[in-house]
Amino acid sequence: MTEKHIIIDGSMGEGGGQILRSALSLSMITGTPVTLKNIRAGRKKPGLMRQHLTCARAAAEICDGDIGDIGVGSAELTFAPGKIKAGDYHFTIGTAGSTTLVAQTVIPALMLLDQPSTVRLEGGTHNMKCPPYEFIEQCFLPVLRRMGADISSELYKYGFYPAGGGMMSVAIGAAKSLNPIEMINRGKEKNLLAEAFISKIQVEIAERELKVVGKRLDWTEEQLKVRNVSHAVSPGNILLLKLEFEQGVEIVSGFGAFGISAENVAKNACKAANRYLNSEVVVGPYLADQLLLPMALAGGGQFTTLRPSRHLKTNIDVIQKFLGVKITLGEIKPGLWLVNVG
Ligand code: ATP
Repeated sequence: MTEKHIIIDGSMGEGGGQILRSALSLSMITGTPVTLKNIRAGRKKPGLMRQHLTCARAAAEICDGDIGDIGVGSAELTFAPGKIKAGDYHFTIGTAGSTTLVAQTVIPALMLLDQPSTVRLEGGTHNMKCPPYEFIEQCFLPVLRRMGADISSELYKYGFYPAGGGMMSVAIGAAKSLNPIEMINRGKEKNLLAEAFISKIQVEIAERELKVVGKRLDWTEEQLKVRNVSHAVSPGNILLLKLEFEQGVEIVSGFGAFGISAENVAKNACKAANRYLNSEVVVGPYLADQLLLPMALAGGGQFTTLRPSRHLKTNIDVIQKFLGVKITLGEIKPGLWLVNVG
């Protein structure tokens, strides 16, 4: 444990839950206590929601840390981390709160140990404004493996908002350290695929989404798949557009929700897919903010991405409070940004 104690104002920049998650991960890894004030002050319902509470408690559990007396709605917490320990962990969020975001909080700490761990998570696996499970499996973890981590995941049950009830797990081998990598050119296109997942709703919803994708992106029947999910507790729908290139994968998601037509879900997803396809970037806008922390831990790395989001800029500020790593952003040409870590 260092003498340092970091204080973070959770209303900074983007003002959301990512500030808390990055701070928890970095507090564990650096052994630096942290106080977070004004947690999620930028959100309509500020303070800890169940997902964030689970992140905080999970962090305390994996390092025998002290998280104090916190609950749903807490706007402030102080975390005193202990020594991170490998183990077989099981965290239940209790609502549809995002399992993938809890996973992202504990993965950086557990993947740098010399013993393996497993993490089983129950809650939401496909939530609006969060990485869907497939994004973690096919976009995020493959990059960590390229950096030297030994990590894989499995989905047992889909958990759609608002019921949740999903289950996923992550298996983490010993890595000790990560290597800097470069993701500058995405290489040739390998595969473009649309998957419309449905659970307990009419197949027409998926078919209508795929029809729009076929038309707007000019994709063939073979690229448009209906996935009928049987292992989910509640109704749900998500459209995933997988854009696979030699050096990177982007997954764009369209979340089906009450009051949004299947056509609009698909149109918005197609717009986001076109932004990626019409650019030369390797890393999509969400993966960009998520890769900063592992790259900072590796002490370096570079990637090209679209115009930096507020999440990305805010995450840079949080990381730089803990690590003496330099992260710069520069527009190489219109719409093509280079993020340089280290
Ligand atoms: P809140 O915004 O309510 O505080 P939160 O805890 O989900 O909630 P954010 O700070 O908004 O926190 O962070 C959301 C995270 O989810 C970001 O890391 C972002 O990259 C990721 N994310 C959001 N939507 C997607 C998506 N469609 N695909 C992949 N990742 C996503």
